[in-house]
Amino acid sequence: MMPAHASTPAALPPLAGSLETNASYADFIWFRTGGAAQYLARPKDPADLAQFLAALPPKTPVFPVGVGSNLIVRDGGLPGVTIRLPKSFARVTTEGNLIRAGAAAMGITVASAARDASLSGLEFLRGIPGTTGGAVRMNAGAYGRDIADILVEATVIRRNGTTETLPAAAFGFSYRHSALPQGDIVIEAVFRATPGDKTVITAEMDRIAAEREASQPLRSRTGGSTFKNPPGHKAWQLVDQAGCRGLTIGGAQVSEKHTNFLINTGTATSADIEALGDEVRSRVLAHSGIALEWEIERVGHK
Ligand SMILES: Cc1cc2nc3c(=O)[nH]c(=O)nc-3n(C[C@H](O)[C@H](O)[C@H](O)COP(=O)(O)OP(=O)(O)OC[C@H]3O[C@@H](n4cnc5c(N)ncnc54)[C@H](O)[C@@H]3O)c2cc1C
Repeated sequence: MMPAHASTPAALPPLAGSLETNASYADFIWFRTGGAAQYLARPKDPADLAQFLAALPPKTPVFPVGVGSNLIVRDGGLPGVTIRLPKSFARVTTEGNLIRAGAAAMGITVASAARDASLSGLEFLRGIPGTTGGAVRMNAGAYGRDIADILVEATVIRRNGTTETLPAAAFGFSYRHSALPQGDIVIEAVFRATPGDKTVITAEMDRIAAEREASQPLRSRTGGSTFKNPPGHKAWQLVDQAGCRGLTIGGAQVSEKHTNFLINTGTATSADIEALGDEVRSRVLAHSGIALEWEIERVGHK
């Protein structure tokens, strides 16, 4: 990684943070598979990001990434600029009943800050191993709550470089979905909480951690829930009933522990993982007549 001024690719405007060419996604996303980002930009601060985007040719694709806990990047890689927000975007503060979180802050960090301020309602974020930006984009949720329930507003740097603070209603949230246009980058979110008892909040977060540990392959290379729960059904149950527990393609396997999780057993390519997901979809369709919808986002060239 080099400072941008030393090596800015000719096609890109300058960036005070860092810019890499052909940066491997497999080095850092949860599945540890996938091709390279054509360019990987790590802006120094919001002004740096805004100036960079404003000067970037409008046709250059922009893809923000958190920690890739909901992502398959195909083996041929992703053209354009991947934006990965560094630690300087991970500050979390509390103001009364509000929690202000930088987009690079992890769910556990946000939940812990709320707990430390005796604020309740964000405990579910303890179990979501992604960033605040990814959580807003995905309307992440668990245990009957999601981002739409707690978001007050979020600040976004648009693809054209303008910065806007948008109320929650502007995000068009639905189940594991927001209507945020691709290329717009969340840099900060404000969540509402309610005053609570720190002991109770801590106990709930511990319960969530233990429950996750018992039911999910947390120590595996995975991408979280593969398919959305169809209305009235549990995706894991449909996958199990279709006989897919442990099903393997190449180095990819349907988790024995939780059948809505796919895992990279060590040698998987993204093609293996995607082929396995598609095979599961067709077996579930044949068995139950239900077409599962991918929850994991798949991007890039095959
Ligand atoms: C073990 C495990 C358990 C999980 N459990 C849950 C769960 O209970 N509930 C749940 O909802 N999800 C769960 N997930 C999925 C995942 O953690 C969430 O979707 C999370 O919100 C993704 O965050 P991320 O930072 O990893 O985003 P990424 O996977 O990096 O990106 C996901 C999407 O968000 C976009 N994005 C990322 N950062 C930004 C940004 N700053 N601005 C705009 N867009 C951005 C990306 O472009 C992409 O479209 C789980 C995953 C794993 C591995």
